[in-house]
Amino acid sequence: MTALDLSAASPEIAALLAEALDGGTLDAEAGAALDQTTGADLDAVIAAADALRARDVGDAATYVVNRNVNFTNACVKACKFCAFSRVQRSDEAYFLDEAEIVRRVEEAASLGATEVCIQAGLSPRIDGGTYERLTRAVKRAAPEIHIHAFSPEEVKFGAELAGVTFRDFLARLRDAGLDSLPGTSAEILDDAVRDRLAPGRVTTAEWLEIIRAAHGLGLPTTSTIMFGHLETALDRARHLALLRRVQRETGGFTEIVPLSFVHEEAPLFARGLLGDGYRPPSVDDVVRFHAVVRLMLSRDIKHVQASWVKVGLPLATRLLSAGCDDLGGTLINESISTSAGAGHGQLATPRELRRAIRAAGRAPRQRDTRYRTVREFDAVERAEDASPLDAVSPDDPRFGSFHALIHEEAHRHGRVALPKLARRSAD
Ligand code: SF4
Repeated sequence: MTALDLSAASPEIAALLAEALDGGTLDAEAGAALDQTTGADLDAVIAAADALRARDVGDAATYVVNRNVNFTNACVKACKFCAFSRVQRSDEAYFLDEAEIVRRVEEAASLGATEVCIQAGLSPRIDGGTYERLTRAVKRAAPEIHIHAFSPEEVKFGAELAGVTFRDFLARLRDAGLDSLPGTSAEILDDAVRDRLAPGRVTTAEWLEIIRAAHGLGLPTTSTIMFGHLETALDRARHLALLRRVQRETGGFTEIVPLSFVHEEAPLFARGLLGDGYRPPSVDDVVRFHAVVRLMLSRDIKHVQASWVKVGLPLATRLLSAGCDDLGGTLINESISTSAGAGHGQLATPRELRRAIRAAGRAPRQRDTRYRTVREFDAVERAEDASPLDAVSPDDPRFGSFHALIHEEAHRHGRVALPKLARRSAD
């Protein structure tokens, strides 16, 4: 590794960074120390993360053309960090039927999307066969689209409804056409933190079981961490070390997506559960943590995503110089962060993402879900770079929005009997 001048940093921090740059494995305590740096130490952390990124993934920065379909916000759970869900009796609870989901997928395919990301609340209208039928219907309608769907929390819900093991349930989904899973529902993989964030949430052991089962079945997943709520720096670093351990076993994570907590509409914040002294993540906090993710994981999980829906495109662009190499997706229908109070929009066009990547001094590359190159672009935008999605406005009424959807009579959820969850059969 080319020598990086770390002389301005304190000896302790310089030693940790040198270890990371030399290909060493930083333990959780080291990660936590880096995640609390300021001043010259923080500058060194960012520079080291940028250097590791350049060494491990090069200078291209990527994005994926995709569409989110969050087909219902009705949920039988009430996670305290979640502003998206509604109880089924709420006037704002919606449910998109299979025909509407398929229509959205076909529309995405016609606009050049290579992926649909399907995740939703745990609606009482879902039964043990819903996820499988939906997967088959989407695959039948758009076989060329990669189906990236169903969080571990949804897999647990579906398996319990169907009365089968997580592995058997995932095998059914894979055979129906599922291509990969989002590694969401992770937040912080520590049950003491999870119990405070969302009692009854999929446990750390269940999350790991589902992820390992998916990887074992040949279904890759992303990995995520939600930061900036009530966790500590050590909680975050332990979570990263745990993901690294899983990756060394399975090799099934495609990327890591740090998710900066959007607090404005979250029940945790609204009910004062974060405490009077709560301070949302600052720009420095966000930049520092993405750099730490690169420093702890670069050898094992090569791709670190900057999430424009969480932090906005200008800060996401800056994160490309702090260890990140990916800007995520076009999304078209962003709902989760929008419902929580983020004001960064529903859609980023491919051209906007290319512009951001070039502004960071990097070469834009369109990727697929597995990070295979779809298209490469030069330093200057050309007319032939344009794709169908570049021609649409982020406010195009064709796509609707979360705020419109929750008021549409046609998709009102309505009340149904609560589902009966079977006891899961033994693995
Ligand atoms: S995070 Fe998921 S499971 Fe929890 S309340 Fe929100 S939609 Fe429901």
